Amino acid sequence: MAATLAGEAAARDADGAFPAASFQALREAGLLTASLPTSLGGQGVKGAALLTLLRQIGRASLPVGRVYEGHVNALGLIQRYGTSAQLARAARDADRGELFGVWNTEDGPGLRLEAGPGGLTLVGGKTFASGLGHVTRPLLPAEAREGRMMVLLPTGREPGVPDPSFWQPLGMRATVSGRVDYSGARVQQEDLIGQPGDYYRQPEFGGGALRFLAVQLGGAGAVVASARAALRELGRAGDDVQRLRFAEVAVRLEAAWQVTREAQRRLDALPDGADPAPLLAYVALARTATEDACLLAAEAAERAVGARGLLAPWPTERLLRDLRMYLRQPAPDAARLAVGAWLLDAPDAGDPWEEA
Ligand SMILES: Cc1cc2nc3c(=O)[nH]c(=O)nc-3n(C[C@H](O)[C@H](O)[C@H](O)COP(=O)(O)OP(=O)(O)OC[C@H]3O[C@@H](n4cnc5c(N)ncnc54)[C@H](O)[C@@H]3O)c2cc1C
Repeated sequence: MAATLAGEAAARDADGAFPAASFQALREAGLLTASLPTSLGGQGVKGAALLTLLRQIGRASLPVGRVYEGHVNALGLIQRYGTSAQLARAARDADRGELFGVWNTEDGPGLRLEAGPGGLTLVGGKTFASGLGHVTRPLLPAEAREGRMMVLLPTGREPGVPDPSFWQPLGMRATVSGRVDYSGARVQQEDLIGQPGDYYRQPEFGGGALRFLAVQLGGAGAVVASARAALRELGRAGDDVQRLRFAEVAVRLEAAWQVTREAQRRLDALPDGADPAPLLAYVALARTATEDACLLAAEAAERAVGARGLLAPWPTERLLRDLRMYLRQPAPDAARLAVGAWLLDAPDAGDPWEEA
């Protein structure tokens, strides 16, 4: 399966089409339902096992990893906040190969859910909608009078007006992350998942960052592997400068991965109703460690392979573009600030990362 993903990645980067063969392979491997409970036909993959799966998929193809992470996220939100009927339907749809996604990012006034005499209607749209035209069941957080509501439109009803021209990215082209306008789309009561405000409920919302960190670390692993292949091909892998360069990268990437796994362990162990602040500070630590490690890996790969290694047919150039693009996640400076604040505002001089 990893070979299918990696094999399709270069072609889809070149033509900008969605990696349909990769998702067919994921479906055949049972991975579209893997995160669902076994009672619903899934494999109950969650926690650290889910992070490992995301890292493996991200290593094979960062664009596929991004879209798959959205699929898993949507199913998780339905599992956590939806009714049993909504979850059963989602499980059936995923088993049939329907692709889910979470489209939260927006610009301007964003997406609103308005109640009128004729019922509920959407106004506005989303940007960075990964898998646009291929995700058949997008979960759309929309601002309503009572707070932010999750709307899960059924396949085929109210597909929105897509604007793929928005998507002219540095990398991650195959995610087809366009803009979409839902103005005028009709929403039924049964399309609503959970209660107002559930989407941003903590610690699940902040802890969700751990999934994209796993995908990013997979992408960084692919960059390192391709730089390694280029160095070996050029007969330069034995050079001490290159060895020192990659030693630093190995330490930072592995440390980031272990901190990410530890953050997931803490998230899984957090009792219901506990103060999420220490966990969220630890997630910010994992975000910061991962961003720094991945940027270091990208720079090391560029320096190591040089211009010759950044030409096709070496995959390093594409993998670097994908990684640098996907590293851009919301408010990275705020995450770094949260780490510093947690350390400097701690009431005593003990270990700020020790679990209570
Ligand atoms: C390939 C790809 C696929 C994506 N797919 C999806 C998807 O399917 N669904 C979805 O919902 N989203 C998606 N996104 C969007 C993603 O989740 C982020 O919202 C987006 O990447 C963040 O972009 P940004 O770098 O502009 O973030 P920003 O948060 O705007 O950060 C940019 C810079 O601004 C700074 N900054 C942030 N906030 C402030 C502030 N208030 N004041 C001052 N400075 C600030 C940051 O520290 C940083 O320096 C996707 C993104 C990518 C790259």
